[in-house]
Amino acid sequence: MKTNRILIGGKWIASSSGKTFESLNPATERPIGRFQEGNSADVDKAVRAAKAAYGKWMQIPAPKRGAILLNAARLLMKEKENLARLVVQEMGKVLPEARGDIQEAIDTAEYMAGEGRRLFGHTTKSELPDKFAMTARMPVGVFGLITPWNFPVAIPSWKIFPCLICGNTFVFKPASDTPLCATRFIQILEKAGIPKGVMNMVTGSGKDVGTPLVRHKDVLGVSFTGSRDVGELITKSAGVKKVGLELGGKNGIIVMDDADLELAMHGAIWGGYGTTGQRCTAASRVIVHQKVKKKFERMLANRVKRLRIGSGASSSTDVGPLINRAAVEKVHHYTEIGKEEGARLVCGGKAPKRTGFFYEPTLFTDVTSDMRIAQEEIFGPTVCMITVRNLDEAIDVMNGISYGLSSSIYTKDIRNAMLAIGNIEAGLTYVNSSTIGSEVHLPFGGVKQTGSTREAGIEGVHEFSETKTVYIDYSGKLQKAQIDT
Ligand code: NAD
Repeated sequence: MKTNRILIGGKWIASSSGKTFESLNPATERPIGRFQEGNSADVDKAVRAAKAAYGKWMQIPAPKRGAILLNAARLLMKEKENLARLVVQEMGKVLPEARGDIQEAIDTAEYMAGEGRRLFGHTTKSELPDKFAMTARMPVGVFGLITPWNFPVAIPSWKIFPCLICGNTFVFKPASDTPLCATRFIQILEKAGIPKGVMNMVTGSGKDVGTPLVRHKDVLGVSFTGSRDVGELITKSAGVKKVGLELGGKNGIIVMDDADLELAMHGAIWGGYGTTGQRCTAASRVIVHQKVKKKFERMLANRVKRLRIGSGASSSTDVGPLINRAAVEKVHHYTEIGKEEGARLVCGGKAPKRTGFFYEPTLFTDVTSDMRIAQEEIFGPTVCMITVRNLDEAIDVMNGISYGLSSSIYTKDIRNAMLAIGNIEAGLTYVNSSTIGSEVHLPFGGVKQTGSTREAGIEGVHEFSETKTVYIDYSGKLQKAQIDT
């Protein structure tokens, strides 16, 4: 089994800790590679390399940086199938979804390459004569990028490409469950022509690599995607820095009495059980109108019972494994909580006796909004059905959680749809489509405890740059704003 290294200043080296850890295939529980257990000394070295490379990289014209990103897009396209199979092997999702993970990175590279020819500021009129006013987009400096395992290539790409196009350098700390995907991805970017030191990668734990990276005085920006608890720790330890947080979700689908129930059922299946429920945008709540509750529950349960679990590599699999043993235990713990709270378990609710971190697709009904299973992020194949009397109540239930990432409504009535769009507290609202399916040229992010960061699209560029305001006075005399009227 190969021992992989960390990347610092263009060199793949061993960690100064002298220790390694293994990454497992969640479907087989077999190790697929050994990785460096980085520490604060590695982080410090990597930050120094990123800082040293910054001056030169930020001076390179942005369209030239864009050309490197386009190279990366081409190489990723060539490697798409290999990378997708690696995602299946290390993270467990089914192959078509793994291909989507890589496609998202390709799309992001292309989009951000194009931004190299925009990075717009704006101009406006000065209140004084012979004075010109504008804004310009500036890089931030060295970024610390910290990512989860559920989109092991797409999420790093959402950070790395805007970070680079804006002229920043970075130290990347990938999730410890998917370091091989991260390593391959970074190797492809290296091949695309990103100069030495501009990108650095240190693998290892959140405590030993993540924390020193967030705290490092020369790291001026932190972009983090992960759980709310770790997000909270990061806000505390980062101090005064530009910090972006994409945290958890407890997303819901509203199914109105006038909805196309067949369409809504497919949306609930895709949103609830796609990626084995391990998406920040997973539809873990189905909020259904009482008039259609019985019928919809029957339709949904029939379909859930037919979902096939298995290795993501097999074309007959609908639902792959969870990421690790701890995730299986967490999901099962929530099944026990749901039963104790009085929710009715319609199907699933246990881990099958087989190798791999599998859990049966689970459906609870007769759930009330205040139950823990309806409030807390389970991050597994568990869906809770909550019955409501009308749209007002549905929106109250949708909003009655601490998170605010994604939401959806199935209805044929434009008024219902518009009221949902106007009143749901979430960063994303879908109409007649599930809670998942973001496109890279539109902003993505949440409100409330999900954090208020926006990644992707033009707002993703803003996360990785600063606005400089510029005044050019060509009057040849001292002019005073607000005073010379
Ligand atoms: P996690 O918070 O446990 O870990 C995320 C990353 O943070 C990992 O790389 C981890 O090693 C690192 N980390 C852990 N402790 C740290 C610390 N003290 N300081 C710095 N870094 C630390 O999350 P996870 O289990 O990898 O991912 C699942 C979570 O991510 C879910 O809550 C999910 O909703 C969320 N998520 C959010 C989005 C989004 O865009 N909003 C997208 C995907 C996943």
